[in-house]
Amino acid sequence: MPQNDLTSVSPAQNSTSPAPRARKVPRIVVLGGGTVGLYSARRVRKRLGRQDAAIVVVDPRPYMTYAPFLPEVAAGSIDPRNVVAPHRKALKGIDVLQGKATKIDHGAKRIEITPQEGEPYEISYDQLVVGLGSVSRTLPIPGLAEQAIGFKNVEEAVAVRNHVVNRLDVASSTWDPELRKRMLTFTFIGGGFAGIEAIAEAEDMARSAVKQYDSLDVSDLRFVMIEGAGRILPELSEPMALYALEQLKQRGIEFHLSTFLSSCVDGHVVTSTGVEFDSETIVWTAGVKANPVIGESDLPTDKMGRLTVLPTLQVADEDGNVVPDAWGAGDCAAVPDLVNPGKFCPPNAQHAIREAWKLGDNLAAQIKGEALSEYKHKSVGTVASLGLYKGVAELFGTFKFKGFPAWVVHRTYHGGAMPTFNRKLRIFMGWFDQFVMSRETVSLGSIHDPRAEFRAASLPPKQAVAKESTPETKAEPVGKS
Ligand SMILES: Cc1cc2nc3c(=O)[nH]c(=O)nc-3n(C[C@H](O)[C@H](O)[C@H](O)COP(=O)(O)OP(=O)(O)OC[C@H]3O[C@@H](n4cnc5c(N)ncnc54)[C@H](O)[C@@H]3O)c2cc1C
Repeated sequence: MPQNDLTSVSPAQNSTSPAPRARKVPRIVVLGGGTVGLYSARRVRKRLGRQDAAIVVVDPRPYMTYAPFLPEVAAGSIDPRNVVAPHRKALKGIDVLQGKATKIDHGAKRIEITPQEGEPYEISYDQLVVGLGSVSRTLPIPGLAEQAIGFKNVEEAVAVRNHVVNRLDVASSTWDPELRKRMLTFTFIGGGFAGIEAIAEAEDMARSAVKQYDSLDVSDLRFVMIEGAGRILPELSEPMALYALEQLKQRGIEFHLSTFLSSCVDGHVVTSTGVEFDSETIVWTAGVKANPVIGESDLPTDKMGRLTVLPTLQVADEDGNVVPDAWGAGDCAAVPDLVNPGKFCPPNAQHAIREAWKLGDNLAAQIKGEALSEYKHKSVGTVASLGLYKGVAELFGTFKFKGFPAWVVHRTYHGGAMPTFNRKLRIFMGWFDQFVMSRETVSLGSIHDPRAEFRAASLPPKQAVAKESTPETKAEPVGKS
């Protein structure tokens, strides 16, 4: 395995890396360039100059995604490029390695990185920050892996948006009523924050888009939410969650609460309560779990696979003994909630950003030999968008907003939290643009298979005709359209 012990990281030099050299300054390796990774790396760089520490961020993506805006990307209300902060611009004075951390050996202080292409290689570090976030928590449900799509990253949100609009296009020229029904049935699994915002935004967009089709009517659309618990939006108080439920029901969204998905082979949905229907769109938003790379490492984790940390964001074992030189925060860590003793901070961006700031401050303080402080944050509240000009918000446990005011609170809060001034400005300008010229709901046809036409053109004429005339009878999974 190639190893990299150079002071400045250069993957191209890995395979010829000579014997380890002593580093002039400590190297901080940050795993994950998401919310925690980006904000903590920037904070450390603000506190420590290049002469004090080298910082390396490792992520398979070249950008950080602001996930609270993904539902609006799926609704076409925000340009996907505006909800991501490119690492090369946002991480000034910080090295970026594009690749997946595939092995963490904290005992040896080495990380194995697997780039998108090429052989895995190793880098060493003095301080480790783990901000690997979470992955979709799926279940071995027949058909799920083949038919469904997650809703965790910008690629998935764009695919959902394009798929929904594409199904409207295709259904508008389909005369088989059963096929049409299947195309226009959109199923979401999981009624937490991400799921409710996603279905509400997607329905709102489809409702607006359908007006452009003479052969389609809003009543042709069927949006279905399947949720295992007896209520939606557990992050909100019961009356506010009930308000959201009623609003969405009034718009015709069908709710199956206390219900589980049993099967969805070839898009045929079967629920635990015996409901059956066909749906070409199945979006899985039923929860997340800590990134599994952590569970496979020698770092301590709890029963849920989360990194165990102290309120200082230092990694510690179950007895509270600090694991030297390791730090963690965000969705992948069990961060004690000092405002609610005995509980852990919920996995959301509000905490992840503030934990990252505290982690950055403490890591810099440790390197400078200063005292560490503890993370304590009282939740500002919860805001959820339920479509264009609709929302629900609860702030400081006292102030409750519904409808348009809640939507304004949502946009203002998240617009302000979006990293970099450039992105904030682009988002606000995009909203202004839409306000003046209305939302664009055009489908970009076969964007997810741009080579299809070229492949067909390359086939001998007879084969191409045979291929084109083969009727499509099976449900197309999301992302294939
Ligand atoms: C659809 C959706 C809506 C949401 N809405 C809200 C909301 O309204 N309000 C709110 O407060 N929170 C919301 N959240 C939650 C919030 O976005 C997360 O809690 C927050 O982003 C967690 O930050 P993180 O840094 O732990 O993880 P992330 O921001 O997810 O960052 C993890 C990073 O690790 C990278 N990574 C993954 N595997 C590897 C690997 N092997 N090696 C290297 N890098 C890796 C990823 O590419 C990613 O960049 C939402 C989340 C989703 C998915």
